[in-house]
Amino acid sequence: MNCNIGVIKGDGIGPEIVDEAMKVLDKVAEVYNHTFNYEQLLMGGISIDTYGVPLTDETIEKAKASDAVLMGSIGGDTTTSPWYKLEPSLRPEAGLLKIRKALNLFANLRPAYLYNELKRACPLRDDIIGDGFDMLIMRELTGGLYFGERSTKEVDGKMTAVDTLTYNEDEIRRIAIKGFDIAMKRSKKVTSVDKANVLDSSRLWRKVVEEVAKDYPEVTYEHMLVDNCAMQLVRNPRQFDVILTENMFGDILSDEAAMVTGSLGMLSSASLNETKFGLYEPSHGSAPDIAGQDIANPIATILSAAMMLRYTFDLDKEADAIEEAVKQVLADGYRTEDIYDEGSTKVGCSKMGDLIAERIN
Ligand code: NAD
Repeated sequence: MNCNIGVIKGDGIGPEIVDEAMKVLDKVAEVYNHTFNYEQLLMGGISIDTYGVPLTDETIEKAKASDAVLMGSIGGDTTTSPWYKLEPSLRPEAGLLKIRKALNLFANLRPAYLYNELKRACPLRDDIIGDGFDMLIMRELTGGLYFGERSTKEVDGKMTAVDTLTYNEDEIRRIAIKGFDIAMKRSKKVTSVDKANVLDSSRLWRKVVEEVAKDYPEVTYEHMLVDNCAMQLVRNPRQFDVILTENMFGDILSDEAAMVTGSLGMLSSASLNETKFGLYEPSHGSAPDIAGQDIANPIATILSAAMMLRYTFDLDKEADAIEEAVKQVLADGYRTEDIYDEGSTKVGCSKMGDLIAERIN
C-alpha cells in the first residue's frame, strides 16, 4: 500500500518522539511491503518562528491533501517561552484548534489500556484491576457546550453567565456511527454516556444512538448516565470497551480514564473526520522540561502511528504488530525514565524506538 502521511513534529520533545514513530513505521513498511511517504509540515512554535503564525493556510492545504497526519506535540513552557507573550490567536495552541476545525475532526479517540507490566502505575486496587482493562473513549469534539453561544452580562443587577449546549441529530449520528464502526474493530461493545435524566440534548443523543445501534446487530450497547460512568471507571473499568459520549463529558471522562492507567507517556489519541482521514498524536504535551535530552517516552506516539494504520489505512495486522512489539519490549523489562521502576532496564527515547522496531515481524 502507498500511504501519504503529513508529519507535524512540532515543538519540545515532538521531533524526538515522532522520529521514533517513523523509525517503527519504516520497519513496518519493510516487513509488510508498504510505502510510507512523509511530508514534513510545520505547526506550533516552530511555525511561529518560521512564518510568524502557528499554522499557515499552505500547511492546512498540505495536511488536507495527505491521507493522514502524524503529530508529535506543540507548545513550549507557558511561563517562559516568548510564544506565550503573543496574543492568544498567535500562540502555538491556536494552530491545533485551527487545524482540527479546518479538517473537521469531530471524533476524538483516546484508548486507555493497562499493560500488565505497568500495573504498579495504576492507582486502583489489584482486585479492581484484575487482568487489566482495555477501553477507548470516543468523544465528540466539535459541538456541545464548548461551541455553543455564550455570554456574561448583568441581569436584574447581577452578573449572569450563560453557556449553551446544542447538538443536532446529524452531529450525534456521525459520531455514533464512528463509535459503532470502531467497536466492530474491537470487542463489539458500546457504552453511550449521557445525562438523559436531566438534559434534552442527552435525550436526543440517546434516541439517535438507539437508531444507529440497529445497524450494528453484532455490537452490544448500553446507555449509562455520566455520573455513574465516572464511578464505574474506578469501580470496574474492565466492563468497558468503547465509551461514546459528547464533548464535555468526554473531556472529563477521558482524563479520568487516562489517570487510571497511570502512564501519560503511553497514551495515544486520534481525531477523525467523516472520511478515513485522521490526525494522530500522543495525549501528552510537548514536555519542554525534558526536550532534547533523549529521555522522553516515544510509546504514545508509536501507538498513535499504530492507530493511524488501523483507522485510516485499515492495516489491522500491521497495527497489531506495533502494539505487540510494545508489549514485548515492556515484557523484556525496558523502560524510559517516566515509567522506570527498580529491576527494569532504563533506556532513552531513541533506544526505545530501536527496541520496538526490532520486534516488528
Ligand atoms: P506535558 O504533557 O507536556 O508534560 C507534563 C509532564 O509529563 C512533564 O513533567 C513532562 O516531562 C511529562 N511528560 C509528558 N510527556 C512525556 C513523555 N512522552 N515522556 C516522558 N515524560 C513526559 O504537559 P504541560 O507541561 O502542561 O504542557 C507543556 C506544553 O505542551 C504546553 O505548551 C502545552 O500547551 C502543550 N500541550 C500540547 C498538546 C498538544 O500538542 N496536543 C497537549 C497538551 C499540552
